[in-house]
Amino acid sequence: MQFKSTRAPDTLVSFKNAILNCLPANGGLYVPDAVLDMRQYILYMDPGTSYPELVATVAPALLQGELNPVSAARVAESTFDFEPQLTQLDDTLSVLTLCNGPTGVFKDYGIAFLAAVMEELLGIDGRAMILSAARGDTGVSIAHAFSGRRDMTSVIIYPSGPVRGLDPASYVTNGGNVIPIQIRGTFDDCQRLILEALNDRPFAERYGITSGNAINPGRLLPQVFYYFYAFIKLKKILTGELVFSVPTGNFGNLIAGLYAWKMGMPVNGFIAAMNANNAFGDYIMGKEFKPGKLIQTNSPALDVSLPSNYERLASFYMEAPAVMRHMVYPDAIDDRATLAAMEEAWTRYGILLDPHSAVAFAAARRLSQTAGFSGHVVVLATGHPAKHAELVSRVTGQQVAIPAAFIRLWKKTDPVATISPQLDALEGAIASCC
Ligand SMILES: *Cc1c(COP(=O)(O)O)cnc(C)c1O
Repeated sequence: MQFKSTRAPDTLVSFKNAILNCLPANGGLYVPDAVLDMRQYILYMDPGTSYPELVATVAPALLQGELNPVSAARVAESTFDFEPQLTQLDDTLSVLTLCNGPTGVFKDYGIAFLAAVMEELLGIDGRAMILSAARGDTGVSIAHAFSGRRDMTSVIIYPSGPVRGLDPASYVTNGGNVIPIQIRGTFDDCQRLILEALNDRPFAERYGITSGNAINPGRLLPQVFYYFYAFIKLKKILTGELVFSVPTGNFGNLIAGLYAWKMGMPVNGFIAAMNANNAFGDYIMGKEFKPGKLIQTNSPALDVSLPSNYERLASFYMEAPAVMRHMVYPDAIDDRATLAAMEEAWTRYGILLDPHSAVAFAAARRLSQTAGFSGHVVVLATGHPAKHAELVSRVTGQQVAIPAAFIRLWKKTDPVATISPQLDALEGAIASCC
């Protein structure tokens, strides 16, 4: 499978090039070019297939000529010591749990695979420096995934504020390969700096710079695998429609679902479950998109006014707008409905959901109770309830057990350097470490 920029559909690059040089020269974002038909795998795979086994089977089929089955098995084994879990709640509803990775967020799946596949594809004489803007636990997920990998250095750029959860033993200053750098500025400044560093071609080439953020298509691709996994587990019981309800902020997860569909997974639709920041729903319904003012909610990972994957989503809509309007249903769940869903999930089904997953649960329940709908909705549980323990506990009356790994996530650590938000300062800090 080759990749093309959303702005230059005629220039194709390999997967390796797309992940190691993830900013197309003419702007835009990399997306798969021709999507391969995976039905021969998805329709017939044994429901008992383990997750690493599924990845080791599907990845080489998708990345023919780049990742052979032996390499793919090595990548899958070194990535997935955690697995998604599908829990059927009743005839109408299942939950796909994606929050059992090292930081309790579904993003662990894409990040861990990116690091492993990059190491595999770099081969023996390649090297790479991965620049990532991070807030919250994403930095920990990235540090964890890249730590100790051969010929790779992970530079993690933080905005002002406390830096938490990193293991100082993994820092370059202690013989590791992680360089946390804090800038005196905002998260937007971090993202701007990374784009500037990628665009400083001599500098980028000297160090082999790419990004570990969601612009890297190597994070998008592995998110397709867990949709396949859910389908394979459910296919025997499906009698009507199949819909996935996806808590949606930057639309990365939803777009991965759309690729799973394009690859032949039988699915009838996706709910783009947004919180009060739902201006993008207009675009999905075929209207003009006007970004709204950012509203703070109790599902903060969904507080996005202009999704960073806008160009990727637009490329689907440009191809087939009439189809897309029947494939993606936007819904908006406000804070009150989110808490009500969290409570309902507990009292009706005995499951604890974090607020992001509760947004998707609320939208799923709304659809499954609609007259005329006879199908099965899979709710993506993207965040771990223990990371919102106080809220979950207040709403459900339950004590939420906190895994020991999460306690480490809250421990403050010092970055290797603190700099002003300028490219020369960033490049100077990197040069002094390497
Ligand atoms: C990032 C995140 C989301 C949103 O995913 P997108 O791919 O940005 O739409 C949902 N839930 C949780 C817990 C997240 O961390």
